[in-house]
Amino acid sequence: MSRPKLIVISAPSGGGKTTIVKEILTRHPEFQFSVSGTTRPMRTGEVDGVDYFFLTKEEFERLIQRGELAEHELIYGNYYGTLKREVDRALLGNKTMVFDVDVKGGLSIKRLYNNSAVLIFIEPPSITVLEQRLRNRKTEDEETFRKRMERVALELETGKRFDFRVVNNTLPRATDEVDEIIKKQIQS
Ligand code: 5GP
Repeated sequence: MSRPKLIVISAPSGGGKTTIVKEILTRHPEFQFSVSGTTRPMRTGEVDGVDYFFLTKEEFERLIQRGELAEHELIYGNYYGTLKREVDRALLGNKTMVFDVDVKGGLSIKRLYNNSAVLIFIEPPSITVLEQRLRNRKTEDEETFRKRMERVALELETGKRFDFRVVNNTLPRATDEVDEIIKKQIQS
């Protein structure tokens, strides 16, 4: 028997979170991914409805007004939010769902769904390593890079309140650790 859970994975930008989330979903095809809504522009390789629902500011604000979001945050000048219908899809279907959200969104999900939610924070080995990784990613201009680095202190501090913390020294090892945590959590 397994107990489906809402697995929240958060990390500062460049922390390797997206890679870890993708690998976890590959290892567990039975898990679902919570596709968030966002107003940020689509990056090369991203697919609408798969990576995010890419929305205009007006569309996003309509979702807020209609109460269709479980949580939302303004991050680096763009809206990001978890759709209630995504969470319902997991809960009603008795499925484990994986969330790639920021630290504040993670705490909101915990507040809303209590014991069903498991918060995992991916920590960089150091700020210098994080900065280097973010630079290597080359998806940001200088201004966005600066905004992302400014938020790191808040993220590291908030991450202390998560249920589990995994240091991302190497991606394969961090992924294995996250996988072990999830397996234990869904086991009854
Ligand atoms: P990115 O632009 O790099 O895809 O994501 C920027 C940040 O927004 C990341 O920390 C990511 O986890 C977070 N994020 C993505 N979707 C959501 C969401 O639905 N809610 C919240 N609160 N954060 C999100």
